[in-house]
Amino acid sequence: MTKGTRIVLLGRQGSGKGTQCVRLSRHYVVPHISTGDMLRAAVREDSPLGRSVAEVIGSGGLVSDDLIVELVRERLGKADARRRGFLLDGFPRTVAQAVALDDISGDGALNAVIDLVVPREMVLDRLSARRVCRDCGANYQAGPVVRSPWTCDTCGGDVVQRDDDTPESINRRLDLYETQTAPLIEFYGATNRLFPVDGVGTPDQVFERITSIIDAR
Ligand code: ADP
Repeated sequence: MTKGTRIVLLGRQGSGKGTQCVRLSRHYVVPHISTGDMLRAAVREDSPLGRSVAEVIGSGGLVSDDLIVELVRERLGKADARRRGFLLDGFPRTVAQAVALDDISGDGALNAVIDLVVPREMVLDRLSARRVCRDCGANYQAGPVVRSPWTCDTCGGDVVQRDDDTPESINRRLDLYETQTAPLIEFYGATNRLFPVDGVGTPDQVFERITSIIDAR
């Protein structure tokens, strides 16, 4: 059984979920577990896992439930997550994954599932301008001046544009979010674990809204 603080952050691409997760993970001292970051690291390392998922990720599709569930099961079994809990980012993405997560976390049920709500029209520009630190996952927005190389303020890693932040892939991922991930909202709502949070506002305002919910649990 996992102890500590166990949080899932849901929200469509470009909702600011990644930025909030980096901050929340420091605030609550829980590991930030981003399945997207884990998969991208595997692709960069050119591991067998990375080779098997590179194409799906590049095209904006979803990796199979079995594969991703195994990856998460292994990660949540590590000492830090067992002791401190976890902050899941990008998982679960389907109802099948949510069911598997309940199985993995056992009695240590989730404290809260936060749904960061930002309208689709608002995220398209943000996603095209998005730049991400390869090492810690911190998110940035590109301005009119091109910064190259760009070093992360948090950890000194390389800040780059993700290969899958192309207009085609972004649209495909947003479509998939509606069809595959939106049913999760119903799944968690039905078991009273869902907390919608207005994701429109400054990062500080949104952070306040999220922490006030988690602290009250
Ligand atoms: P985004 O939310 O911007 O689409 P992520 O960084 O969460 O990006 O994930 C990047 C890609 O990794 C996804 O488009 C998908 O191909 C794959 N992926 C990440 N998490 C999952 C998951 N839980 N289930 C299936 N595929 C996933």
